[in-house]
Amino acid sequence: MSDPNKPKPTTNDAGIAVSSDEHSLTIGPNGPIALQDHYLIEQMANFNRERIPERQPHAKGSGAFGHFQVTNDVSKFTKASVFQPGAKTDTLARFSTVAGERGSPDTWRDPRGFALKFYTDEGNYDLVGNNTPVFFIRDPMKFQHFIRSQKRRADTNLRDHDMQWDFWTLSPESAHQVTWLMGDRGIPKSWRHMNGYSSHTYLWVNAQGEKFWVKYHFKTDQGIDFLTQEEADKMAGSDGDYHTRDLYQAIERGDHPSWTMMVQVMPFAEGETYRINPFDLTKVWPHKDYPLIEVGKFTLNRNPTDHHTEIEQAAFEPNSLVPGIGISPDKMLMARIFSYADAHRHRLGVNYKQIPVNSPRSPVHSYSKDGAMRVQNVSDPVYAPNSKGGPSAQPEEYPAEQAWGGEGDLVRKAYTLREDDDDFSQPRALINEVMDDAARERLVNNVVGHLLDGVSPQVLERAFEYWKNIDADIGKRIEAGVKAG
Ligand code: NDP
Repeated sequence: MSDPNKPKPTTNDAGIAVSSDEHSLTIGPNGPIALQDHYLIEQMANFNRERIPERQPHAKGSGAFGHFQVTNDVSKFTKASVFQPGAKTDTLARFSTVAGERGSPDTWRDPRGFALKFYTDEGNYDLVGNNTPVFFIRDPMKFQHFIRSQKRRADTNLRDHDMQWDFWTLSPESAHQVTWLMGDRGIPKSWRHMNGYSSHTYLWVNAQGEKFWVKYHFKTDQGIDFLTQEEADKMAGSDGDYHTRDLYQAIERGDHPSWTMMVQVMPFAEGETYRINPFDLTKVWPHKDYPLIEVGKFTLNRNPTDHHTEIEQAAFEPNSLVPGIGISPDKMLMARIFSYADAHRHRLGVNYKQIPVNSPRSPVHSYSKDGAMRVQNVSDPVYAPNSKGGPSAQPEEYPAEQAWGGEGDLVRKAYTLREDDDDFSQPRALINEVMDDAARERLVNNVVGHLLDGVSPQVLERAFEYWKNIDADIGKRIEAGVKAG
């Protein structure tokens, strides 16, 4: 009988037992290494190739598995099977910071990524959101520039607040997201203590073909909590992986975090007439106009066992939409529809959906073929249309759901302005109607501290104006704080 305590024999990647974990093959104990020591070569070659390109933004993060359980009947708004009464679906979540690199501290002030994958019976549904309901810009032409302004300079290779405020103050549409970021929610206590938002508006279609615009909110069941700037700075020095550790340990001890999913629903026709452009990513839909409707709850209850294969190689993409869910005319969303899958092809290779964490649980009948690292077999016929019994698209059952269009000449312009489409009213409401005195004081201190860290005089002047446009009093307090600093 074999000894159960005896370790398994080491093998090479071909499963062949090796004769040493410690010594290379040499000509005599003091002689040169033999080229035919292919096991040593395999070990070195594998090591040299362990790293894959990190994500451009959202490089630092972690995640866990769980499930989504529907708790309310929203079938009058969508036919998506994942949101039908009683449905329970396996899920994966990944949380991240935006600007930092893979090793950067979890507690830097930054929005957090909030990416979800639902392994539904109609294919994988991905919702790639953030912990904030809005974003810094509304046109994807600025996205690359925005992210570069938050990362590192070309000359010093350092992050630079002058670059950040230069971009923000020249982009007034950033005011809402910057106000949110400089407030308490800009540094969550942990990933468990923050909300998630689709941020974008999506289209929902019910079984009768009726259409609705929706925004998703994932409210933390752990309660909102945050770190002050001082606490976060301390944590960045003492435990850079604080949020990663917190999520892992909570799940290990059986304290499974959960979020309640809610939606705001706008009738399709109101998308044309609502006083705020409902597709502009820098705006929220006020709750009094579109109250939250409960849908269900997702719970995280299983940690990954291999961060690389299950989280680093997890590929979320907002184009992964199931029947009953479509995109909206949000320009940022339209660009992400291209850009995420493109990033995955670059980082992981063309067959990234065959990596187990990205593979749908429902059957795949696609005509994609071959390519590097394809591991699932392709069968004939390999073309469509065909008369050989291969898959064929079925538009009656699965109609196109981008049931909206546009008209006019080709232009490069922002959205047409509506009655309440200015850049400053919503951040002003956030400061005056949502924050209390203590939160406003922390906001002022956070901005002053940020501006005192290397922002040039010319950019500082613009920053004072920017804040005065949001709120005259807050702007004056920020200016006074910087001048006193
Ligand atoms: P409501 O009073 O109905 O909603 C205010 C919202 O603000 C709540 O969802 C609350 O989230 C959230 N909130 C509370 N404190 C903060 C904070 N320090 N930083 C960021 N968000 C906070 O008002 P409106 O819907 O009319 O929105 C007013 C402003 O609130 C908006 O301009 C926007 O900046 C902000 N907001 C609005 C959201 C929306 O979807 N309408 C969502 C999030 C923020 P919670 O209940 O989870 O604590």
